[in-house]
Amino acid sequence: MADILDDRRKGLEEEYFHRQNQAAIEKLRDKMKVSQDAKDAGTSSMKCPRGDGNLKESKFEEVTIDTCDKCAGVWLDSGELEQLTRHDSGNWFGRMLSGSTE
Ligand SMILES: [Zn+2]
Repeated sequence: MADILDDRRKGLEEEYFHRQNQAAIEKLRDKMKVSQDAKDAGTSSMKCPRGDGNLKESKFEEVTIDTCDKCAGVWLDSGELEQLTRHDSGNWFGRMLSGSTE
């Protein structure tokens, strides 16, 4: 019986974090747009849209992310955030995002 309640509680938590991720995705879309604008501008060597840092590609959970060596910002290409949040670490990722953007 306790298991049923526990399962229900976990379901609610997952829905909560799913919503958190959705909010984080909305916030990140603006940043992603800025990143895309920088690419459209023809900067083949990846520059941080926020400053003069250089973006380095690194792998996280089999997803390639771009990390700035100056401001430590993380930039995602289209679809990469969705890939990240689909992993088990999505909850961690959502928490990190919602904590750092408030
Ligand atoms: Zn930067």
